[in-house]
Amino acid sequence: MLPRGSPANGERKREGKHEQSKIGSLAYGLWGILAAFSTSSATDKQGRGPATGHAATRASGFDAGNPPGRMSAALAMQKLQGETRYAEPMAAHTSWRVGGPARRFYLPADMADLVEFLRRLDPDEPLLWLGLGSNLLIRDGGFPGTVIATQGRLNLVRRLGERTIRAEAGVSCARAARFAAREGLIGLEFFAGIPGTVGGALAMNAGAFGTETWDAVVKVETVDRRGRFRERRPGEYEIGYRQAKGPSDEWFLAAHLELELGDAGAAREDMRRLLERRAASQPIGLASCGSVFRNPPGDYAARLIEAAGLKGCRIGGAQVSEKHANFIINTGTATAAEIEELIELVQRRVADTLGVHLLPEVRVLGQTE
Ligand SMILES: Cc1cc2nc3c(=O)[nH]c(=O)nc-3n(C[C@H](O)[C@H](O)[C@H](O)COP(=O)(O)OP(=O)(O)OC[C@H]3O[C@@H](n4cnc5c(N)ncnc54)[C@H](O)[C@@H]3O)c2cc1C
Repeated sequence: MLPRGSPANGERKREGKHEQSKIGSLAYGLWGILAAFSTSSATDKQGRGPATGHAATRASGFDAGNPPGRMSAALAMQKLQGETRYAEPMAAHTSWRVGGPARRFYLPADMADLVEFLRRLDPDEPLLWLGLGSNLLIRDGGFPGTVIATQGRLNLVRRLGERTIRAEAGVSCARAARFAAREGLIGLEFFAGIPGTVGGALAMNAGAFGTETWDAVVKVETVDRRGRFRERRPGEYEIGYRQAKGPSDEWFLAAHLELELGDAGAAREDMRRLLERRAASQPIGLASCGSVFRNPPGDYAARLIEAAGLKGCRIGGAQVSEKHANFIINTGTATAAEIEELIELVQRRVADTLGVHLLPEVRVLGQTE
């Protein structure tokens, strides 16, 4: 059996308390517990990954990007060890706290288990990859396919070389930022305030304060619908403002990030300062998806929304934030339909009054009720 990714590795244990997330706070099943025990040898106390011994060697084989053929014999004998749920309410997994049920919801035990799950999947099954759901509006009728939840599952982060770290897709951005800082590597401080995962940050090219995710990427590990593992370079993607377009039906398993050598204390201080700037201008702590609209060239969506007189505008439980006009808040009772209606209303009003067509940054999907 391939070694399992460890949700209980030393790195996570030290930090886990601060980054309990919706999915992360869910109880691990029996297999998850077994997995945690079986992988302790693959990750040292610094979360630096494969140590020595048989299990560790095989784990690093996967990291190194073994061609699928070499993996397949072992995988074919392997039972799926993740957790499957049916009719899982997506409201529990999105930062807007809305969204109907996913027909099937899969929490992989680790990367190898996820690859095997994909290999067995019906090729026509609709798939949605989910990180922390902080940029997703899933409609009230839910998702008629399989949601793959990476957060807390593809969860290893470690240093690879003098300036490089490898973070799996389900590692939270905040944890990746803290890990890099502790290692004396700088350039990832902006990640501290992005409430998503590394996978979501790659897909969205998440950015803040002038830095974007792909600025640091030197390589990504991906998997396609048939479970084929690949390594790709940034040049293979069309990377732009809040987007990274790559081959369709292929998703991120891990990122290799190259950072600068620096001072751990200074990096921590930068993170603290950036978090303070956020808290001063954003409605942190309320259910939202961050900025709803992309900034149009040379302008700010928030400025335009405010200029159109929409601050505080409300449909049912959905409200344009009084603090930051590009945020829509779920005041507690909002449905996805109300949020979507408010998004459309803001678009219409800004277009009618200011002649600018705002494009959503958030991804809207699923079925209406
Ligand atoms: C309070 C708040 C502040 C925010 N501030 C910022 C900010 O400063 N800058 C910024 O850019 N964003 C910001 N966001 C938005 C959001 O946090 C980012 O877009 C983040 O990168 C989304 O990550 P996620 O893991 O939550 O992705 P999800 O919302 O789960 O998914 C987003 C998209 O990525 C895809 N995806 C997820 N994982 C993978 C994967 N492994 N492989 C391929 N595709 C995948 C999903 O299918 C989906 O299409 C903010 C959100 C909130 C709530």
